[in-house]
Amino acid sequence: IAKNSGKNCFHIFDVAKDVAEKHQHEELEHIRLALNNDEFVLFYQPKINIKTNQVIGVEALIRWDHPEQGILPPVAFLPVIEQDILDINVGEWVIEKALTQLFTWSEEGIDIPVSVNISPQQLQSFDFVKRLKGILKKFPNFKAGSIEFEILETSALKDIEQVTKIILECHDLGIKFSIDDFGTGYSSLSYLKRLPTEFLKIDQSFIRDMLIDPDDKAIVQGIIGLANVFDRRIIAEGVETTAHGEQLLALGCHLAQGYGIAKPMPAEKFLSWLKEWKKKNPWEYLMANNYR
Ligand code: C2E
Ligand code: MG
Ligand code: MG
Ligand code: MG
Repeated sequence: IAKNSGKNCFHIFDVAKDVAEKHQHEELEHIRLALNNDEFVLFYQPKINIKTNQVIGVEALIRWDHPEQGILPPVAFLPVIEQDILDINVGEWVIEKALTQLFTWSEEGIDIPVSVNISPQQLQSFDFVKRLKGILKKFPNFKAGSIEFEILETSALKDIEQVTKIILECHDLGIKFSIDDFGTGYSSLSYLKRLPTEFLKIDQSFIRDMLIDPDDKAIVQGIIGLANVFDRRIIAEGVETTAHGEQLLALGCHLAQGYGIAKPMPAEKFLSWLKEWKKKNPWEYLMANNYR
């Protein structure tokens, strides 16, 4: 009997696996169709120098404008395509879309760098730079400094030499890099020293808790100190309140992004947001927008 039930267990396990695979397959198919039907959109979230109030850039963040379910966040579909070639197709769509937006804004008189998140698989694909050059060819007005890439430290760690080479090749094209979610991975100091990125983005979990948890504050301080030593610029993510902003200024971090400044917004909203923003005095915005 034990043997039989054991078999049954395996059987059930296999069925569950089949169902999961079929489900995965269907989801991939839906995402493929969404890409073909142009259902993805980019939202844009400003990055600010909170000392001068200058808008230093915007981050492009993908959404799926689903015909039935409305706007879906990346966590609803990016994990599904992580292991699939679609991940690279979507990634290239994002770069192309961001470049297109950049030129629309540029024609409207606004030149602000747009940063794009690059997935680990995309960054490590053998022909990343070659394909990137192919995309850039479609944009003869492309200016150095107009796009930036955000990468996760975990994607750089797998093959640091290869990733360093890619970063340097992108530098030649005029593209700067951030290490995103910095502090959540496990890169050692020597890795940081070797990865030639211009920016470190402190993960929002540390910012969220730095006012109540001395350990998180120490981590934020440590990252800022580290960045100074290695001559990198720091961007704080998840800045939600005036208190966050004040604490960051006191610690010497001037660049910030978060709901307290602005939530990610559709491209059409960005111009009116910028107009309003420029009318404001330093600090007024955080006072007005305190998210919590
Ligand atoms: P990320 O690159 O670290 O982006 C920051 C995330 O934090 C965004 O979530 C943003 O909406 C959210 N956020 C910003 N300010 C605040 C705040 O003050 N409080 C809180 N609670 N959240 C804040 P989103 O748009 O859901 O994106 C999540 C992640 O999905 C991104 O994290 C990035 O890793 C990934 N992602 C988004 N778009 C793309 C893309 O086009 N390509 C790739 N490969 N990944 C993307
Ligand atoms: Mg990012
Ligand atoms: Mg992040
Ligand atoms: Mg993140």
